[in-house]
Amino acid sequence: MQQQQPHDISPWNQNNDDLLTVTEQQVDEFKTPYENFQQQQDQYKKQKVIKVNTTNCRGETRLIRKLIAKNNWKEVFNDGDICLLGLPFKQQNYDEYFSQIVNRYPGMDLLAHKTQSSFYLNKFAQYFPEEYEFFPKTYIIPDELDKFQKEYKNTRTYIAKPDAGSQGDGIYLLKNLKEVKTNESIVIQQYISKPLLIDKKKFDLRLYVLITSLDPYLCYINKEGLARFCTVDYEKPNDKNIRNSFMHLTNYSLNKRSTNFQVFNGKNILDINEGTKRTYTSIKKNLEILGYNNQDIENEIESLVVSYLKSLLPFLAFNQKLVFQKKVAEVKCFQVLGFDILLDEKGKPWLLEVNSNPSLQIEHEVFSANGKSVFEESLIDSYVKELVLGDAIKLAMMPTEDQEELPGFESYRKLDVDSTETIFSQMMQLYGFLSGYKFQEYLTSSKFQKLASFPQMTSQTFLKHDYDLLFRKIILRSCNTNLMDFFQFIIAIEQLAGKLNQDLEEMLDRITQNL
Ligand code: ADP
Repeated sequence: MQQQQPHDISPWNQNNDDLLTVTEQQVDEFKTPYENFQQQQDQYKKQKVIKVNTTNCRGETRLIRKLIAKNNWKEVFNDGDICLLGLPFKQQNYDEYFSQIVNRYPGMDLLAHKTQSSFYLNKFAQYFPEEYEFFPKTYIIPDELDKFQKEYKNTRTYIAKPDAGSQGDGIYLLKNLKEVKTNESIVIQQYISKPLLIDKKKFDLRLYVLITSLDPYLCYINKEGLARFCTVDYEKPNDKNIRNSFMHLTNYSLNKRSTNFQVFNGKNILDINEGTKRTYTSIKKNLEILGYNNQDIENEIESLVVSYLKSLLPFLAFNQKLVFQKKVAEVKCFQVLGFDILLDEKGKPWLLEVNSNPSLQIEHEVFSANGKSVFEESLIDSYVKELVLGDAIKLAMMPTEDQEELPGFESYRKLDVDSTETIFSQMMQLYGFLSGYKFQEYLTSSKFQKLASFPQMTSQTFLKHDYDLLFRKIILRSCNTNLMDFFQFIIAIEQLAGKLNQDLEEMLDRITQNL
């Protein structure tokens, strides 16, 4: 029988393998929902006037004003339909959440701390090793200094990053153990020393992911993104070049200081160009010429994003409940995350970092003939970020049920994220139960000791008072001298299972069934 040709069912499904075998009859079956999607899309494209509250905007003000003008929305400074916070959620923002859709999930600032976010991701890698191979091996210093010293290889290069650093600040490469600064809170990561190069330069991708609901868990990836280039030709790290940040770090804020920095502000931003910042679409054209399979790369990126989002869900759901408690069903949030991804020479994507507050600035600094610096609009940033924020707002404004039906909207494609419970959801549930969900982000020893009252949670060798000893041992290193956070609780629960000689998963099943 002659093979059926694939049919272009919808703009989002163009590259979906399942559709390659679609028959005429199946196409008819698809038609009705697709027409519905189309109608729904058209309806949402012509949305009512959205009132955007910009009172708390920061770097994104210029972008949002552009979007307001373009879409005939209205800027307001009180209430409104959408409230844009330029900074992470703070308790004083609490009231804003009940009258507007807010662009922050409480708890997301976890991502701003490299030690905490790496600890959490490392835990997922420990329990689901095959699914979490997408980030370079990471050690938290000083806690995991011994482990790093044991696993360290002098043939490898590592990269050290300060806990709360950003924009490349304080980052250094190292080959020698002696170079590790152990008096600071840092993460050390294996350095991807063979990156994919374009024009002989290292670059990384900034892709945008949107969350619009936690229950149901609705997540999207934007088709467009940015590539940030180094400004010095890449060489494998050696003693001479190891301190050359223009060669090894792709941060835009850093490379703009290089004399090789190139601004591309021409019209053809979707075509191959020579700028230090380029669109993802233009990079894909480069990759195709270099013989890489863009579809394979995109599939791998999507799968790492999906796994990452799966790990985030229990944490976000917990924080949502912690902050809004009984009123949790009344709030609606959304958030755009920035995923920093490095491709290695084989085209494998590595996740370097996720930013909870990706820059939505659309102007860049350029130098005039007399050497004076001026800020002007960057066409690349405007094009990409208008899609990212504009379509995010339109999506967030849609009722959740309509979003559930749509496979995406405009520049966003919906992701299929597994939201079934993992042992981390159980740990979070237990932690919430013990802390009492009363704005308590931390556990006291007496709350931790409540665990001893569950069936089989003491033994002849581990009695109730041993809980306090375990508690103290685990919090020893933290600055909160008598409180335990969720990350320390994970360690405590693991150790508890060991001390009681029980299987961790069975132990958690048993306890959470009794909550
Ligand atoms: P920051 O938050 O300070 O930007 P990142 O983790 O994003 O910190 O690192 C800054 C830059 O360093 C990245 O954009 C990338 O170019 C480079 N980099 C970071 N980690 C690695 C790694 N493991 N291998 C190779 N390059 C890396």
